[in-house]
Amino acid sequence: MAAALSRSLPLALALSRGAPRARLHTVYQSAELPQTHLMLRQTCRDFAEKELMPLAAQLDREHRFPAQQVKKMGDLGLLAMDVPEEYKGAGLDYLAYSIAVEEISRGCASTGVIVSVNNSLYLGPILKFGSEEQKHQWIAPFTSGEKIGCFALSEPGNGSDAGAATTVARLDGDEWVLNGTKAWITNAWDASAAVVFATTDKALKHRGISAFLVPMPTPGLSLGKKEDKLGIRASSTANLIFEDCRIPKANLLGQLGMGFKIAMQTLDAGRIGIASQALGIAQAALDCAVDYAEKRTAFGSPITKLQAIQFKLADMAVALEGARLLTWRAAMLKDNGKPFTKEAAMAKLAASEAATSIAHQAIQILGGMGYVTEMPAERHYRDARITEIYEGTSEIQRLVIAGQLLKAYRG
Ligand SMILES: Cc1cc2nc3c(=O)[nH]c(=O)nc-3n(C[C@H](O)[C@H](O)[C@H](O)COP(=O)(O)OP(=O)(O)OC[C@H]3O[C@@H](n4cnc5c(N)ncnc54)[C@H](O)[C@@H]3O)c2cc1C
Repeated sequence: MAAALSRSLPLALALSRGAPRARLHTVYQSAELPQTHLMLRQTCRDFAEKELMPLAAQLDREHRFPAQQVKKMGDLGLLAMDVPEEYKGAGLDYLAYSIAVEEISRGCASTGVIVSVNNSLYLGPILKFGSEEQKHQWIAPFTSGEKIGCFALSEPGNGSDAGAATTVARLDGDEWVLNGTKAWITNAWDASAAVVFATTDKALKHRGISAFLVPMPTPGLSLGKKEDKLGIRASSTANLIFEDCRIPKANLLGQLGMGFKIAMQTLDAGRIGIASQALGIAQAALDCAVDYAEKRTAFGSPITKLQAIQFKLADMAVALEGARLLTWRAAMLKDNGKPFTKEAAMAKLAASEAATSIAHQAIQILGGMGYVTEMPAERHYRDARITEIYEGTSEIQRLVIAGQLLKAYRG
């Protein structure tokens, strides 16, 4: 099966390499995907249904990292989707990435975030801001699923207010010395490297923050406990604790003081990944609700005959489709080299709120069966919730959107 998949995805990838990038107006107006992206979607859907869906409940229960599946996704090119082939990536675009993350998350939301963090938050900033030498050293080994990366911005004392970072980096000869704690880091227990943000000059506030490439494990860096979470329980989340952790001077990513800009630009792209994860969770919840409602009878007929149920399903489908279009639009703007900060925030806000509301309604449609672990609805509900929190809470997305909107009005 895996061999068949690894034949079919590279086929889709090879086709897409020769194809022009999806034209924004064509795809957006017709709301249909190019043939190459349809093929990719089918391949990812097959993979998710065969390799992830049957295992998702167990991974969730056991808090187990899906190592084998991550390796298979690496073989398929899904861990470095928009990375050029010269650095061993799949050389695809962000629309393809969004589609892949949605399909993977439909199968297993934890696996979806593992993939999203490696693609957007770890590889993304290195690809954009790294030197040629750094790209070869820190990207290529992280494309195959053998190694994955993480992104360490948040701290125990500040998440939304990322510019208030207190982790410090001090230059000592040819080395940076890092001290401080980074909190809530996805993939922490399974990662072989981290993009870490630390301040080199507290007086400069966010302009004093820089980004660093840190190998894992490394002396002076320890991991906190694995957080026991509500959802996405197969992905690890933990603190990174730096105590006189020394890394080479050459591990500065981008220019000194550029870290905050690197973090914000990375999160713009990352939000497309989280929006796509939310879409996958929402789709899985809707699928589950429809499937159950078709089979469940009440008062002598399937509950899909009840208008109350039909109205719920209609509202769920509208929220999902609207969020998907916003997400595709943000991805295509990025692919076309256009500004996409506001659109990515809109996509993340709409998709995450759609996911939590759709998962909520799915439980309602399943009644009592929605509330027990025998059915996946309760897991979708738990998994959906984080999409409104990480990579910027819904409140922060609204601030970003309003800020951009008002700027445009004021000219
Ligand atoms: C499972 C999980 C995985 C994560 N993975 C990562 C990761 O890989 N890397 C990483 O760096 N971080 C990660 N995070 C951290 C995540 O990004 C932060 O939790 C998030 O940004 C919110 O920060 P906070 O928890 O400090 O909440 P706070 O910033 O303390 O916010 C608390 C509340 O106040 C609201 N609020 C704050 N400021 C404003 C404002 N200006 N206007 C209106 N409302 C506001 C927030 O919206 C929220 O409702 C992860 C978190 C979790 C739970």
